[in-house]
Amino acid sequence: MGRVGKKALSTAGEDYLKVIWTAQEWTDKPVTVSALSAHLGFSASSVSEAVKKLAAQGFLTHARYGSVALTAEGEQAAVNMVRRHRLIETFLVDYLGYGWDEVHDEAENLEHAVSDKMVEALALRLGNPVRDPHGDPIPARDGSLPPLEAAKLSQSETGRRLRIARVSDDSPELLRYLGGIGLGLDAELSIVDRQAYAGTLTLERSGDRVELGLPAAEAIWVVPA
Ligand SMILES: [Zn+2]
Repeated sequence: MGRVGKKALSTAGEDYLKVIWTAQEWTDKPVTVSALSAHLGFSASSVSEAVKKLAAQGFLTHARYGSVALTAEGEQAAVNMVRRHRLIETFLVDYLGYGWDEVHDEAENLEHAVSDKMVEALALRLGNPVRDPHGDPIPARDGSLPPLEAAKLSQSETGRRLRIARVSDDSPELLRYLGGIGLGLDAELSIVDRQAYAGTLTLERSGDRVELGLPAAEAIWVVPA
């Protein structure tokens, strides 16, 4: 239950704030009730109900038929959940031998259960990491975010040496697939060719070539190697 101020924030409420915050992290598009309902798989009416409640509690604002935005208080609560989530994911991979495709659901449950004390103990034991197993930046305790200047692989230049800095953790199957073809975090590669009409990229990594469909490439963010 809620850790922010005196207001009770339910587990569902915490998830909503985190989903809104994360949506803003990946896209510039405004977050709407229908987008949230599609993402969460809940009906528009139950999302609308939850949004109304969180707005009444002061965690977000909602323009009628418009976009949903976090207030300063909502932002703080969301960043706190994101920090928990990403530290737990890091712990599961670094200490418990989980694969990067296996940690999301586990962290989704644990992030609501652990105390602030445990989260900080975890951060300390992990050496205050700045990114999680998917390359997602881990907010610091004060809510600040480490900078990440990555670009989408799908929009990167051909021929340049690149390093994978971040991979969307939306799909465990995709993470498994990418890991299986050697496209994990920090893997170096370059784009050899793009087949725009076939919707594929030909990549070179550690001396051999691999074809990647654009939907998969969209999930990968790179920096110059
Ligand atoms: Zn992650």
